[in-house]
Amino acid sequence: MTKECRNPNDKMSPHSLSAASVLVIRHLSLVRHSLIRASSFLLLIFLPALQAADNISVLGSKPQWSVLEHYQETITRDDFARLIQSVYCTHGFAPDLIEMNEKTARLMMNRSAQEFFTLRFAANDAERKPVPRLWRPAKSLPAARPGKPLSGLKVALDPGHLGGKWAKMEERWFQFGDSQPVQEGDLALCVARLLGRRLRQLGANVSFVRNNNEPITAKRPDDFRELARKILIKNGVPQPRADVLDPNDPEKEQTIRWQSEILFYRYSEIRRRAALVNFKLHPDLVLCLHFNAEDLLVNGSYLAEELEFDDERFEMIRRLLSRAYGEELPLADTIAAAMARETGLPVYQYPTTNSTTKVGTSGYVYARNLLATRLYRCPVVYCEPYVMNSKDAFARIQAGDYEGVRNVNGTERKSIFHEYADSVVDGLIDYYSKARPTTARSGGSAVRIQGVTASQPSS
Ligand SMILES: [Zn+2]
Repeated sequence: MTKECRNPNDKMSPHSLSAASVLVIRHLSLVRHSLIRASSFLLLIFLPALQAADNISVLGSKPQWSVLEHYQETITRDDFARLIQSVYCTHGFAPDLIEMNEKTARLMMNRSAQEFFTLRFAANDAERKPVPRLWRPAKSLPAARPGKPLSGLKVALDPGHLGGKWAKMEERWFQFGDSQPVQEGDLALCVARLLGRRLRQLGANVSFVRNNNEPITAKRPDDFRELARKILIKNGVPQPRADVLDPNDPEKEQTIRWQSEILFYRYSEIRRRAALVNFKLHPDLVLCLHFNAEDLLVNGSYLAEELEFDDERFEMIRRLLSRAYGEELPLADTIAAAMARETGLPVYQYPTTNSTTKVGTSGYVYARNLLATRLYRCPVVYCEPYVMNSKDAFARIQAGDYEGVRNVNGTERKSIFHEYADSVVDGLIDYYSKARPTTARSGGSAVRIQGVTASQPSS
């Protein structure tokens, strides 16, 4: 066990699993996932009735539309239309929300007040103004120092979930028989620490959005009981029960306990993480580290009903105008290719496609509107390789972290944590080696050559 991944409760012996038992667990896991998605959907759909005038999503704040003044004439109509149609609004939207005219877009700020923001397009690429932003695309970084391909790059690592004592509450916990419990938050933190060490060796400036098993938010579930009760009443549960009876309670989502917990560990926690990223860390890139799907996600693919929220629509437009997609998509594709080489991941097909849109060229990258990918104001690549309860990944997780290779299920393998971290590192080296400027010596003076894969206007 390496020090990055040590846990006082770790058992070292790998456990074997029968194929049949894996199927049962996988099935439970899928059911659990769909429950979580469906219930958060309920939260989103019904909350606006509480705040009719502003129409803000769960724990969101009123958008500052005037910020968009800084993006006037920074994008052509063609680029704006392409990003709306092929990345962000792939499921359509009410026509009054975004109206594209010849020289401007009319953006709905508030429907009941009939207030609109007018965004002026750049006449053409030559007249496009620089995009204001705090993060630097690869091509705006200084040339890399010799042997340090990531020198100066500011990377924030965001291990998903909380793990530790919170893992059962956040439903990122499972156990088979007497095996070591699998807690996604703990696995992600182990990967983040290994990854952070490697990235620093390569010259990157690394920060952690979370580096232990405690929440960033100061709130706790009990702080959200009243909001949870209101949400349930609005959802047609006139007298919501206080507590969940047992983990298999079919109506647990209709309890104040369950709703207040999700408001804590998802909505409040991720919004606090976003505040940390946006107002303190200011990274060039955030890597969200998860397990359990075998794909990579970037922000996009907003549902029509999500675009009805004034704050989500504003955040989508601001993200589009920041041109984060132009950086995060080629990054995600390059990391995905490195992961496929290193781990032999199969191309993942989402069981449903109503919330995702396949993008890029690797076959592994999807656009999806997650809270973290929407709120972090910089390029975000959301990695979630390995299905935790597949036979192979489960055995490798039980084997824990180790240096070098060991025989797991008959094959010599690196630890799953090292393999994950190494493949992300390889992807970042590939991307930044090509995309950031290189310095060529010419008559004693440095000549800067622009990277070939960067596709954004310079800032
Ligand atoms: Zn996760």
